[in-house]
Amino acid sequence: MLPGDGIGPDVVAAAQRVVAAAGAPVAWVPLPVGLRAHADLGTTLPDVTLKGVTECDGALLGPLTTHAYQGPTMPNPSAVLRTRLYLYANIRPVRAWTGVPCRYPELDVVVVRENTQGFYADRNLLDGNGELRPDPDTVISVRLVTRAACARLVRAACELAAERRGHLTLVHKANVLRLGDGLFLEEARRVAAGFPALQVDDLHVDACSMHLLMRPESFDVIATTNMFGDILSDQTAGMTGGLGLAPGLNAGEAFAVAQAVHGSAPDLAAERLGNPVAEILSVALLLRWLSRRGQPGNEGMAAATAAAAQRIEGAVGRALAELGGPRTPDIGGRGDTVAFTEAICRAMA
Ligand code: NAD
Repeated sequence: MLPGDGIGPDVVAAAQRVVAAAGAPVAWVPLPVGLRAHADLGTTLPDVTLKGVTECDGALLGPLTTHAYQGPTMPNPSAVLRTRLYLYANIRPVRAWTGVPCRYPELDVVVVRENTQGFYADRNLLDGNGELRPDPDTVISVRLVTRAACARLVRAACELAAERRGHLTLVHKANVLRLGDGLFLEEARRVAAGFPALQVDDLHVDACSMHLLMRPESFDVIATTNMFGDILSDQTAGMTGGLGLAPGLNAGEAFAVAQAVHGSAPDLAAERLGNPVAEILSVALLLRWLSRRGQPGNEGMAAATAAAAQRIEGAVGRALAELGGPRTPDIGGRGDTVAFTEAICRAMA
């Protein structure tokens, strides 16, 4: 459990509270991260945290105030964990919820975003940063795209689409970024051909953004590169009720980190008004991932984590549907994080 900055400690505590109410067999290991860790231990990502995380089965990471991170003692923990632990797929589902005002109730989509390279300058070189400034008036941004990263990301998206409505949209900008996005598209088509039951199409990212708004019902799973996925998943979150409801999972083969789509929301932190649902649904995604990965010889554990995930998602749905119950202001209520979390716990079947 890595609490993060801003609203992070509150929404992470909310997720832990709901996991306990659901009866999930989780032993939490609190690990220092972010601005608090920097103040106490001199770095935003202490070695004890990196080591401690790998000794766990999975992690819950709160949002971080990364715009304030500068210099070598302030690495972005999110980026380091994603790259070091090969968490190559950032899975970001959104849907409409009964009881929440929503402009696009037909939208039910998962953005599967490449998570380890792309234009994100803090993770696309082995050493140093991918933004270079040869003179004061010039910046060069280096993007990394590898065939292997495209393949593993698209495979994860295909597997997810096969479990959902069987439709995969590859999103890119290969008409301009001919080499980088061209490689993504080439490799994506090759991997997707191994899933003949899927309906696979592709869109330029700018057109995709428009089509999401004009025919939201026609999307199921979107597979895309890092920055496009980051932007599109905020868009899809906004279309269905906002960032307070948008969960995420950073998933690899052997490890996963639950992390909501939203940032540390400094505007809400002091009054403790962060909507906990995104972090709560993120931890449910992690429990589902853990149950699927399984533990040889401990099948009961897999069943218990899957059941807990289902209870959590059901309770969130019931609490949101209960008009008049406590909820946070972003979805029309007057409650704070704690009051809303308690309402979700009460809604546990
Ligand atoms: P943000 O996601 O923190 O906030 C954007 C808007 O959404 C704000 O109006 C905020 O009030 C609202 N919002 C976000 N989470 C909410 C929640 N749980 N409940 C209700 N409303 C919520 O993005 P930002 O303002 O661009 O960035 C703030 C800080 O977070 C920056 O330092 C940024 O670098 C960082 N950030 C971190 C992550 C991460 O750690 N994963 C992701 C994005 C941004």
